[in-house]
Amino acid sequence: MKINEGTKLDFDDVLLIPQRTKTASRKSVDVSRFFNFYHSQRTWQGTPVIAANMDTTGTFAMSQALAKFNMITCLHKHYGFRDLGNFFSDYDGDTGETTNPKERCWFSMGIKDKDILKLREVVDYSNICPNICIDVANGYTDDFVNFCSKIRTWYPTSIIMAGNVCTPEMVQELILHGGVDIVKVGIGPGSACTTRLKTGVGYPQLSAIEECAHAAHGLKSAEKRMGLVCADGGCRTAGDVCKAFAANADFVMLGGMLAGTDECEGEWEYKDDDECANVSRLKKSLKFYGMSSEAAMNKHNGGVETYKASEGRLKRIPYKGPAAVVIQDLLGGVRSSCSYIGATCLKDMSKCAEFVKVNRTHFDQSASDLGV
Ligand code: 5GP
Repeated sequence: MKINEGTKLDFDDVLLIPQRTKTASRKSVDVSRFFNFYHSQRTWQGTPVIAANMDTTGTFAMSQALAKFNMITCLHKHYGFRDLGNFFSDYDGDTGETTNPKERCWFSMGIKDKDILKLREVVDYSNICPNICIDVANGYTDDFVNFCSKIRTWYPTSIIMAGNVCTPEMVQELILHGGVDIVKVGIGPGSACTTRLKTGVGYPQLSAIEECAHAAHGLKSAEKRMGLVCADGGCRTAGDVCKAFAANADFVMLGGMLAGTDECEGEWEYKDDDECANVSRLKKSLKFYGMSSEAAMNKHNGGVETYKASEGRLKRIPYKGPAAVVIQDLLGGVRSSCSYIGATCLKDMSKCAEFVKVNRTHFDQSASDLGV
């Protein structure tokens, strides 16, 4: 047994300190980034925010809404291959067209044979190789690294994102031996996740991002950066997203923050019909659950297998309107954060950022108001 004495930090443990700056115009802050991916040798330009591949948020409708902001959606794993194939079929690669939704949504898969079969079917059906998110709860196994490496060999030009892990050694392992372009970082921080409660396993997310990004960015081949990270889970507010970017996340993935928007699929609860006579049914809240929750396993796997514990919870997220409203609020926060800390673009956030450790960042109410 070993105990690491250093205190590790979550989003709520820190605040960004304002910095003296010449220009403080939020309007001129550039929130897009340009990336070169080492393994796939592809490039990507956009605002590096990704909708999580949960069955409520990783939807075709979400991908269309987010594409307008040059953001990505990882489609959920429960669409059939024909629906996916049709959706991807007129995808024509890196055309430079920034609003093409097909270019902005990624295929998600686990590591079972059926996942490989579905990927092959989608590729055959649509005649394209989509970008791929390989997603498991525990990315620490040799099997997982070998699986990523196999997919890299078969699909050399796909941008591959894979996870989840939360420590630097495993980030480097996935980049060096798994052929992964972007490592997804986060064990236990998700808003619908109970892993920390059920298993006692996890790592404070702000420190995980900072340490994993350092490890990924430090790997270089002939001066070319080999890997990037995506901070996955735990962002409840625009401020948390700012902190994730400031801690050096290249991409940030969101589930709960996008849940409850019009573009979600799933079970809605409606306001009492009497209250809104003559009006089409008004949405009240969305049932939002972790993908390892009992609710998800009942829906997709016919129940919880006896050797497993559910590691997700079911929540009711108040209706938020269109995703565009959430995104505009988020981007407003990021721009403002940049101007407070003297960054003229998203890329510079981590260079300008200085955090202060705090005992209390805000009233508890501010996060619960957002319903995540
Ligand atoms: P959020 O943005 O809601 O805080 O976190 C979203 C992330 O939570 C997802 O991208 C995924 O990595 C993680 N997640 C989703 N469902 C579950 C679950 O049932 N259990 C666990 N441990 N993590 C989950």
